[in-house]
Amino acid sequence: MIDTHCHVYEEEMDNYKEIIEECNKKDISIIDNAIDINTSKEIIELSKKYNNVYAAIGLNYDQIDTFNKDDLKKLEELIKNNDIVAIGEIGLDYYWTKDNKDKQIEYFKAQLELSKKYDLPVIVHARESIQDVYDIIKESGVSKGSMHCYTGSLEMAKEFIKLGFKIGIDGPITYKNNKKGIEIIKNIDLKDILIETDSPYLSPEPNRGKQNSPLNLEYIARKISEIKEISYEEVVNITTNNAKELYKI
Ligand SMILES: [Zn+2]
Repeated sequence: MIDTHCHVYEEEMDNYKEIIEECNKKDISIIDNAIDINTSKEIIELSKKYNNVYAAIGLNYDQIDTFNKDDLKKLEELIKNNDIVAIGEIGLDYYWTKDNKDKQIEYFKAQLELSKKYDLPVIVHARESIQDVYDIIKESGVSKGSMHCYTGSLEMAKEFIKLGFKIGIDGPITYKNNKKGIEIIKNIDLKDILIETDSPYLSPEPNRGKQNSPLNLEYIARKISEIKEISYEEVVNITTNNAKELYKI
């Protein structure tokens, strides 16, 4: 199994080494997602050290106020000189603040350009910003990546799939009354779905409220198998292949 989006590194969790090693024993690979230059460097080192860790590096919305153009140059150098599988996590978040919207858009667009230049997929965050995210990706011409922890409508999910994107499904699908999530899973093809935990956040049931880790990925796959009325093995096989194809691993 491949956890296609998580934050398993020192800055986010003290026990990241144990978790990576435990995942290795259970044949779980992880695509570790950075949020700034420091975490990008840290993840690159982890991906060199552990054969089940793959690096997605990028500049994320939540540190946006601290970034300057130099960070984009540093990011490009890291992309050029290292073995990474995606640019992420990037995107727009208008839930926390819209005050820096222009700067968020500027850095999102710049990283979409890097995705094209280096032929790498993107891992995209959107919160209360889905229409802008869609319009900007469409205009950029980027045609591969994932909409991570997708919370938009079914119609919009279909539009992202038309652009070539996959839909990332996380722990909240296991929460009671997630009608929107269930509707989306029922109505899109398994080949368009990726499974992810967004660890250390958003633990699925039955571990809701505790620290999340990629070891919880199976609860998400099990829930999808229930909703789609297919076997757990089929969900694991197909979503793993989706991730391998998209991230070339
Ligand atoms: Zn994330």
